Amino acid sequence: MFITFEGIEGTGKTTQIAKVEKYLTSLGKDVLLTLEPGGSRVGQELRKMLLHVENQDITPQTELFLYLADRAQHVSQIIRPNLAAGKVVLCDRFADSTIVYQGFGRGLDTKVLQQLNDVAVDGLWPDLTILLDIDPEVGLQRANSRNLEENKTNEEGRFEAEHISFHKRIREGYLTWAALNRDRVKVADASASPEKVFEQIKDMLDAEVSS
Ligand code: C5P
Ligand code: MG
Repeated sequence: MFITFEGIEGTGKTTQIAKVEKYLTSLGKDVLLTLEPGGSRVGQELRKMLLHVENQDITPQTELFLYLADRAQHVSQIIRPNLAAGKVVLCDRFADSTIVYQGFGRGLDTKVLQQLNDVAVDGLWPDLTILLDIDPEVGLQRANSRNLEENKTNEEGRFEAEHISFHKRIREGYLTWAALNRDRVKVADASASPEKVFEQIKDMLDAEVSS
């Protein structure tokens, strides 16, 4: 079973994925937790480039091809072999991030992006995608206070520095995309407490595990 997680900054994605891992493990599943960009060795190099380059120094197309390269390597080297070995693979971001960030966010054609995603994933689409949805004002506030608490400048600083209108576009893009892919993409309201958010996710997992 292949499950991916999507959402803007500050939705609590990391917290929820850890809860999902714990829950599925308690059900006796063998779970692999991975992420994009950076889930493979090559991907780790690409991640450094993607997160540290200056916005004005990379074109949307270049950025797109780096994300796609990361995904192609990740699917063939990590995700597919682990699924074949019987594991449940949980992935923090996947192909939908490309549609939403490079498409709705940076203005590239989503139809073309979906075709390129098809090449990168080589037939391997998630069984379930959980979209954590939150108002970007609330999400960014959370992300900022987390950074202050942890006394770090976030490695994603270049994304968080985007104007709020960018994050609003991303959120709307996710919701639009989720509505077009209802069978696979389930939306959780991430504005509630971590426990309440997980209750919604647990229902989605139980439905998937029993299907
Ligand atoms: O998942 P994480 O929050 O670590 O992702 C790092 C950043 O990369 C995100 O904040 C997002 O803005 C950006 N991103 C992107 N295009 C993608 C995937 C992620 O711009 N396809
Ligand atoms: Mg993050």
